[in-house]
Amino acid sequence: MSERIVIFGGTFDPVHHGHLIVARAVAEAKGFPRITLMPAASPPHKPAAGASGPDRMEMLRLATADEPVFEVSDIELRRPGPSYTIDTLEQLGRERPGARQHLLIGADMLEDLLNWHRAGDVVSAAEIIVAARRPWQQRLDEVFRRLAEHFDDETVNRLRGSVVETPRVDISSTDIRRRVAEGLSIRYLAPEAVTQYICERGVYS
Ligand code: ATP
Repeated sequence: MSERIVIFGGTFDPVHHGHLIVARAVAEAKGFPRITLMPAASPPHKPAAGASGPDRMEMLRLATADEPVFEVSDIELRRPGPSYTIDTLEQLGRERPGARQHLLIGADMLEDLLNWHRAGDVVSAAEIIVAARRPWQQRLDEVFRRLAEHFDDETVNRLRGSVVETPRVDISSTDIRRRVAEGLSIRYLAPEAVTQYICERGVYS
């Protein structure tokens, strides 16, 4: 079987248990031996990240150190300018020719897909996997209808079939940053090593 690259991109500012639980669930459901967590340098669709690239990378390393299913890649952080997913897929395509590329995104990202740089090329270059919490059917039907106005039927059907049901974990990086800024505890929201790193280095304070 050909090599598989499964990318889970995001800001990871910081990485938290929501990310890890969802990625772990997808690896299990799809039988992926490895998922690559890839922090974006300057996400085109979001304001600048709160923590530096090296800090976000280090927190990802700490969070995944004892879990062989996860690896962390800094290729987007090393590339100058905004991190367009299509540039990453094309770069990996050159570096690892013949590998099948998969892109794991949260259901909220699916809604945003149409705004992505060269969205049509992204859905051709990689097999998208949508992680969605229950009940997603009704909520995503509307999103698929909108996607159908821009993508052909085959692509939309592929996206429909790509949904993996994942646990509901109501944690967000925004909430963690806010809690740190307000001096509240972030214990249990992210792995212990990550919360320690944030507290010791004064990240987000
Ligand atoms: P922020 O609060 O700063 O927007 P975030 O917590 O949503 O950040 P990102 O780094 O933007 O985290 O997310 C990366 C990916 O992880 C996205 O595809 C997003 O949909 C998904 N994701 C983030 N949090 C969760 C969660 N609690 N459950 C499931 N998926 C999540």
